[in-house]
Amino acid sequence: DDSSAPARFELQEDPSFWKDNNVQVVIRVRPLSSSEISVQGDKRCVRQDSGQSITWTCHPESRFTFDLVADEHITQESLFKVAGVPMVENCMAGYNSCMFAYGQTGSGKTHTMLGDIENGTRGNNENCGMTPRVFEHLFLRIQKEKEIRRDEKLSFTCKCSFLEIYNEQILDLLNPNATNLQLREDAKRGMHVENLTEHEVSNAREALQQLIEGAANRKVASTNMNRASSRSHSVFTCLIESKWESQGIKHHRFSHLNLVDLAGSERQKSSGAEGERLKEASNINKSLSTLGHVITSLIAVSNKKSQHVPYRDSKLTFLLQDSLGGNSKTTIIANISPSSCCAAETLSTLKFAQRAKHIRINEDASGDVLSMRLEIQHLKKELSRLQGQSGF
Ligand code: ADP
Ligand code: MG
Repeated sequence: DDSSAPARFELQEDPSFWKDNNVQVVIRVRPLSSSEISVQGDKRCVRQDSGQSITWTCHPESRFTFDLVADEHITQESLFKVAGVPMVENCMAGYNSCMFAYGQTGSGKTHTMLGDIENGTRGNNENCGMTPRVFEHLFLRIQKEKEIRRDEKLSFTCKCSFLEIYNEQILDLLNPNATNLQLREDAKRGMHVENLTEHEVSNAREALQQLIEGAANRKVASTNMNRASSRSHSVFTCLIESKWESQGIKHHRFSHLNLVDLAGSERQKSSGAEGERLKEASNINKSLSTLGHVITSLIAVSNKKSQHVPYRDSKLTFLLQDSLGGNSKTTIIANISPSSCCAAETLSTLKFAQRAKHIRINEDASGDVLSMRLEIQHLKKELSRLQGQSGF
């Protein structure tokens, strides 16, 4: 049956990917799995209409439009080029950046964010996911920037941390003995996790080592505590500090790059659950529903209908508040299964992603900040040229 076979849409590397908005929403459709085929054959619940739009084909049909719809033929490398490269570029330009993988368990979140990390990008390993590719590009860009701006004595330090939020508790994946860490906010560091391990890394290989170690600890922790890692969120953070001098002025800047693998978005059943399981179910619902509320409030704020964003209502949103809204760039990769077995969850993910698409926060302000920076750079150059001319 030809109508069920997905059409192919190639991804374009689009330099204007971030042009209009601080939030970009990508849908990634994974291939049908063999178990789905054995249950439902190849019956699908979605049809891709273009590189930006997708239709949920059950009743009533609903069509959705996003910044990008990536079908099952899209490789890890091309997804990285379209969504990952601009993220690193934004980070180099001083924005806090955050990428979330959202979707039901089994929809491809971990495949997208990590993929085969053991081999990294060695030998052009196609299965290597977003995070190791981001590391490589980040360090390439750092190297290049240092060469270009040698006159300004540009230097970088990059520190990595890796944590898990389970049951509204923060665990340090780089130090499994540290559990129930606390969030703190102060003037110097902003929002941070107290006593969280931060390893300085000087290249992509060292960053990848931290990722591999943390991912292994996550597996051990979930086995020991008898729970699936699909019920926790993981957050890998690169804290990038840069220093440079220009016209005798010392500059100092911090930016965060967060890569987040969210808990499965399927509704957690609290009926029948008791004790720890019940608490767990309601806590998972809490951080994902708070993420939803934060998004709704950001839409209201951008429409000037509200001021309040409930970041504090969950650990996840409180931790990431600087990366959601304000001077930050967020990418949401909403992962879906194309199988009609998953139609209901797929629709719920498409609706979540659709709401996220409506955030238009601070777009003027951040545009202003960037253009003001450029303006200042230009004026400084002009000033030194004039100073040179008039000899003072
Ligand atoms: P999640 O983290 O959302 O629970 P996974 O990333 O573990 O889901 O994916 C479930 C299974 O589907 C894994 O075996 C994974 O390798 C496979 N898979 C997911 N996305 C893709 C894709 N785009 N291409 C090929 N296989 C995929
Ligand atoms: Mg996973």
